[in-house]
Amino acid sequence: MAEYSQQNLKQFNIQLKPHPRARDQVVAATDFVEGSIVFAQHALAVALLPSEKGRRCDACSRLSVSQSLRRCSGCAEYFYCDEHCQRYHWQKNHKRLCKPYASYSTTALGNLPEHARMDGILLSHLLAQITPDDLIEDSSPVQTLLSLLPGPQEENPAPHICYTPPFVPTGLVQSLFIRFQNNNFAMHSHLSTFGHGVFPLASRLFNHSCVPNAAARYILKAREPVKMEVVALRPISGGEEICITYLDPALLQTRQQICKLSYGFECRCSSCHFLNRISKSRLPDDADADFAELDAALRDLSGVEDGSITRLRTSIFQDSIPLHLYGAFKESYISALSKRFTDAAHDGPYDVARQAGAALLAFYLMVYPDNYPQIGMHLLELAKVVWNDIVRNGDDRDKLRMARNYATASRGVLSIFGAEGDEGGPLGELTLLEDLLWNS
Ligand SMILES: [Zn+2]
Ligand SMILES: [Zn+2]
Ligand SMILES: [Zn+2]
Repeated sequence: MAEYSQQNLKQFNIQLKPHPRARDQVVAATDFVEGSIVFAQHALAVALLPSEKGRRCDACSRLSVSQSLRRCSGCAEYFYCDEHCQRYHWQKNHKRLCKPYASYSTTALGNLPEHARMDGILLSHLLAQITPDDLIEDSSPVQTLLSLLPGPQEENPAPHICYTPPFVPTGLVQSLFIRFQNNNFAMHSHLSTFGHGVFPLASRLFNHSCVPNAAARYILKAREPVKMEVVALRPISGGEEICITYLDPALLQTRQQICKLSYGFECRCSSCHFLNRISKSRLPDDADADFAELDAALRDLSGVEDGSITRLRTSIFQDSIPLHLYGAFKESYISALSKRFTDAAHDGPYDVARQAGAALLAFYLMVYPDNYPQIGMHLLELAKVVWNDIVRNGDDRDKLRMARNYATASRGVLSIFGAEGDEGGPLGELTLLEDLLWNS
């Protein structure tokens, strides 16, 4: 029985159905409330980003905060929380990679660009743990991986592999590799990427949307591979397709190209329809655009009036966005706006940070789906800006009310996505800030 058989998917209350354009779609078999876990799976294989190597455990991917990690004495290139994680990883795949790894990483991977290096390491991890049964058993995740559609650049040859088991037939390495580029996931902790992971069943199930109703978060536990959980961002009704996003929806000018070049499809979500409409209308040149006017119009739309959130307007996309706001969808405007916010967020001037931050909030509400965690992160940043202002420039009842409003709105959004990755993170920071805002 295949891993993606209807019978196996029953445990998650989801099912596969035919899709008019894609291969098929995964739909909810029941109603889900926001925050529900609609799917979960452990990684088949993972690889840490070079920048995270030595900072995180190679077995469980957790960040080492207090003590230094144990280094593998064989290759000196793998690091672990403790002997338990090390033993677990040794059995899993490292006993086959430890000896050849040092020369592999310097000679075979030496000058490769980062993404090719990552693919080489990830594929090496996967091949070092493959068993003869994986190649014949229908229920094996390796079979699910082989059932995925290959990426659009099929002719790219696989990078050198550190170790290939003798029973792996010629051709299989390439068959696995051509499914990597368009199917693997960037895993994140506190929404920041720490590595790449192979999750074949998730790849088999979830189609892309730039305004998805669900999002993947990553759970880290000792002596366990990373676990992906797909969380409902809003209520999902039985029969509705469940989608996640394969890219950052705020990449307005490049995301359609990424869909085509990296994934080989054209996105037809409501947000892409809207962007296509905008691109046909004439936007003012940067020189004529009135940024201050645009900022004010955005602040108006966000429901943020002098920092008091009257109503956090999400799903603005479902309404129609007025013509005078089309200029906000130019990357030049948005990058200037977010620069104005970040430049002033830490040391002021805080009124500049507050105004730019409120306009940026409206932009996020337009491009991100309901309860997308980046919205909650930005609300937390806004609450911190106002709190810093109070600390630096003295107390003020209006400012305190404003900071509390932002913190409350942030809590509402972030608690739906929930905690991910390492301890602390935005939810931990928010708890500390709430304590300051309500108890001091
Ligand atoms: Zn560990
Ligand atoms: Zn080693
Ligand atoms: Zn789209």
